[in-house]
Amino acid sequence: MAKTHEFEVIVVGAGGAGLMAGLYASKTAKTAVLSKLYPTRSHTGAAQGGVGAALGNVEEDNPDWHTFDTVKGSDYLGDQDAIEFMCQEAVKAVYELENYGLPFNRTPEGKIDQRPFGGHTNNITKKPVRRACFAADRTGHMILQTLYQQCIKNNVTFYDEFQVVDVIITNGVTAGVVAIELSTGELHTFRGKAVIFATGGHGRVWSITSNAYAYSGDGPAIFMRRGLPQQDLEFFQFHPTGIFKLGILITEGVRGEGGVLINGKGERFMPRYAPTVKDLASRDVISRAIYLEIANGNGVNGQDYVYMDVRPEVVNKFAEMDGRTRPDGSPYRVTGEEILSKLPDIIDFCRTYLGVDPVKDPMPIQPTAHYAMGGIPTNKYGEVIVDGNATVLPGLYAAGECACVSVHGANRLGTNSLVDLIVFGKYAGIRAAEYAKGASLAPMPTDAPDFARAQFDALLNSKGTERVPDLGNEMKKVMMDYVSVFRTEEGMNKALTKVRELQARFKNVRVEDHGKIFNTDLLNAWELGNLLDIAEVTAVCAINRTESRGAHAREDYPKRDDTNWLKHTLAWKENNEVKLDYRPVVITKFQPKERVY
Ligand SMILES: Cc1cc2nc3c(=O)[nH]c(=O)nc-3n(C[C@H](O)[C@H](O)[C@H](O)COP(=O)(O)OP(=O)(O)OC[C@H]3O[C@@H](n4cnc5c(N)ncnc54)[C@H](O)[C@@H]3O)c2cc1C
Repeated sequence: MAKTHEFEVIVVGAGGAGLMAGLYASKTAKTAVLSKLYPTRSHTGAAQGGVGAALGNVEEDNPDWHTFDTVKGSDYLGDQDAIEFMCQEAVKAVYELENYGLPFNRTPEGKIDQRPFGGHTNNITKKPVRRACFAADRTGHMILQTLYQQCIKNNVTFYDEFQVVDVIITNGVTAGVVAIELSTGELHTFRGKAVIFATGGHGRVWSITSNAYAYSGDGPAIFMRRGLPQQDLEFFQFHPTGIFKLGILITEGVRGEGGVLINGKGERFMPRYAPTVKDLASRDVISRAIYLEIANGNGVNGQDYVYMDVRPEVVNKFAEMDGRTRPDGSPYRVTGEEILSKLPDIIDFCRTYLGVDPVKDPMPIQPTAHYAMGGIPTNKYGEVIVDGNATVLPGLYAAGECACVSVHGANRLGTNSLVDLIVFGKYAGIRAAEYAKGASLAPMPTDAPDFARAQFDALLNSKGTERVPDLGNEMKKVMMDYVSVFRTEEGMNKALTKVRELQARFKNVRVEDHGKIFNTDLLNAWELGNLLDIAEVTAVCAINRTESRGAHAREDYPKRDDTNWLKHTLAWKENNEVKLDYRPVVITKFQPKERVY
């Protein structure tokens, strides 16, 4: 018999979204947070650049501008009611973090300091606006630590190193989850009136990625196995500036501080692609520009990379050419010490992993798989949606990167994920606790753990010879080659065929460790199964969408097609097929226009 636990609200994941949800739920409901990682090791802790909110602390700004920028950034696929809600709520949520003690950088007057980020603009002048609130280049780390402390203070019960492997739904109502306790290998059943998934992203589908090893898409994969849909998986963001070959992220904050992209000919190339905002265009635009420069023979030393240059003399030269000023109107000029104080971790990464000192040398970079715009469909209260009519599944919630509200549409703006976590994490927590007050525990079948147990037994009992890292590497390579920044039908079909072959070979995968205690071998195999399912559905959705929009850039369909494709994709995995349907995009104030940066 599996051990059973009972709570009113169960949160799966202890990143920014899970902790914010747990904190809010725990104000009124008995709440548990389950996490496969120790909470403060969650990927939110790697977020560098900042959290966007129109505080207007250093120059004029307002949430309406933030709303428009996000809609435009999303290439008009974001739901405008949810975006407006997020941008309004962002201001309150950031002050809330400040009140919890988050050590933001400060202006000389003691207000939260702000810096520019890609796609965030003054809507009148169209110039970049300083909207990103930051704590050096460790903003996510500070959010995570701050929220974890608040959760401890609020008596949230933590189950650290418990990996959730199934969600149980009885008669259409959420009953709880099944989890493996990593230290013993035992399955536990958690009964809950409401369950909130906040399991993060799935960037480990691709070979070059900024994402943590834990980003194996567990939440979405578990949902698909239980017949629930995913939304807009074809939209996956490639961040323009990953360290060459390693994928480790160089924050957009570097460009916010005045850094510029330089090709192999020594040219600053972004003004040719985005004449107004240049190096601060949205990420999809810049990643494509880098690919095109490389394709045109403008990579550095004939290789597949360009330079990100934040040397003070270079920053100052281009700041002068751009007429960039400080908030007080004086010319924008920086010193090596200032760069070092605002970007300490980035500089450290480059020194450690590249032997390059960014204050003295340019950094070799290439686009890196970064962020899942798609995921578990929800409304703006975090309630999980199960069909094209926005029908809600009672008691089931999702927030953070694993969810698709959708506020990021076809392309997310920098700083908008951390906003998404704190706003929608909060409302998912509030809603789940309210729901739990009026609900009773749904019956939990005695055989609840069996579906998950069968998946693990199949892996353990396999007599095959396939190795997890081999299958994983083949998947990552084919997805990087054919389902990344630029896509064609021919290439994506190759990827899909390969992924399906890998899914077949996965049935013969061999797990070496048959022990119970911290069997990471077994769990890595299970996670690879999740990534393969997500890769398959991503490729199917991307082949199906015959247009280019945001991060989905098709060479064979280079134009956005609002007549046929201004809609969200819903995808279900049924047996060996992927079934598709659509949902309308919510448009309130902003009719779709061509995007110009
Ligand atoms: C390097 C990097 C830098 C970034 N910088 C920024 C930035 O400056 N600004 C910005 O807005 N965004 C940034 N992002 C994006 C942003 O950080 C992430 O989208 C966001 O932090 C995700 O938060 P989350 O709470 O959804 O997930 P996470 O913080 O990843 O947390 C996921 C949680 O789920 C748990 N979990 C997962 N699967 C299971 C399971 N099966 N069972 C139990 N627990 C599970 C994990 O243990 C973890 O606690 C960055 C991302 C990266 C990778």
